[in-house]
Amino acid sequence: MSKKHDFKPESLMMSHGYKPELSEGSIKSPIFQTSTFVFKNAKEGKAFFEVAYGLREKESTEEVGLIYSRINNPDLEILETRLKLWDKADDCAVFESGMAAISTALLEFLAPGDVLLYSSPLYGGTDHFINDFLKKIGVHTISFTPNDTQESILKRLKNSGLANKLAMIFIETPANPTNALIDIEMCKSIADMYSSTDKKVHLAVDNTYMGPLWQHPLQHGADLVLYSATKYIGGHSDLIAGACCGNNEVISRIKVLRTFLGNMAAPHTGWLLMRSLETLKIRMEQQARNAEHVANFLNNHEKVEKVYYLGLIPEGTEEYAVYKKQYESPGAMLSFDIKGAEKEAFAFIDALKLIKLAVSLGGTESLVEHPATMTHAGVDPKFREELSITEKLIRISVGVENYNDLIWDIEQALEKV
Ligand SMILES: *Cc1c(COP(=O)(O)O)cnc(C)c1O
Repeated sequence: MSKKHDFKPESLMMSHGYKPELSEGSIKSPIFQTSTFVFKNAKEGKAFFEVAYGLREKESTEEVGLIYSRINNPDLEILETRLKLWDKADDCAVFESGMAAISTALLEFLAPGDVLLYSSPLYGGTDHFINDFLKKIGVHTISFTPNDTQESILKRLKNSGLANKLAMIFIETPANPTNALIDIEMCKSIADMYSSTDKKVHLAVDNTYMGPLWQHPLQHGADLVLYSATKYIGGHSDLIAGACCGNNEVISRIKVLRTFLGNMAAPHTGWLLMRSLETLKIRMEQQARNAEHVANFLNNHEKVEKVYYLGLIPEGTEEYAVYKKQYESPGAMLSFDIKGAEKEAFAFIDALKLIKLAVSLGGTESLVEHPATMTHAGVDPKFREELSITEKLIRISVGVENYNDLIWDIEQALEKV
């Protein structure tokens, strides 16, 4: 037996980063429901501020002192120490929502006149922030789809006449709701082409749709990985939160902006997320197992035209190569085309008994929704068509229920169509 042993993240989610002796021996971290922290003396207060404001380098044995809950709080610090393990990141910053994490990252790494290259479709809130807010402050945006090749993306950049202003690439893969894949390494090579010694093009990946277990964007060259922790990380559809992981340099920049935007998560949310993290792996494994059963059932049903599920990508295709390189599981999100159109899709959705009709995803309960009229209603209809987001498309976030019950529910609902 070796003396040195690296524990897996799932083994560390219960205790890592928490010192019981600082909290009366309590096995679990209390909720540090406090706005401010008492300094032992004035000298300590001075030292804490010197480090927090970057007035001097932190000494090797020195810990960042607790000052004020907008800057740091034990529930957030312990949570960040655990959350970063899944992506093997240096550091992590948690936020009051996924949108807070995403908007803070975009604001930190973009300035007026810069170009942002992004994959489309993006989460509706992100798309709105980019195309309404960032455009208003003078950021140029160029988009591409999972159907584009590196060649066609580079051509689009060149044709814009602004390629040398590229500052950031932002992608979502697998794309919501059809699970179309984008090659992170391909995006990284575009970022490298336009990076120079005095300008780094940052690559950010919103990893919400797959979750933190089975896709690790930092290991494929991304600089930032973003999460809506509302989804798989929270996992119980009872909170809103977000996170950003990356190396020390990018996260310290993000944390400074977070301090001044004031969009950090609250201590209670941090505490709830620590509780969620203890079961992240077993929840997601059960969800993925269930999704496989559901996908196979749908794939063999006469009223179903096509299933969009990573486990059904044909071997030998380019997409399969990206899938094998980038993912360790097909995950638990799937969608399918029902034979027919909106009428048939709605009849199916309304006939479900166990699976609930709601947007959001990644929770313990299975959810169904109709992207064309719900999550993606704001996307231009022609563009929607190009992305296979048609009236017949139905999205399912698979939960932890017994898969036989899920299949029974889907079967009886399909019968009513
Ligand atoms: C839900 C979601 C977001 C936004 O997160 P909130 O926690 O709702 O702010 C961002 N990206 C993706 C892919 C999402 O699914």
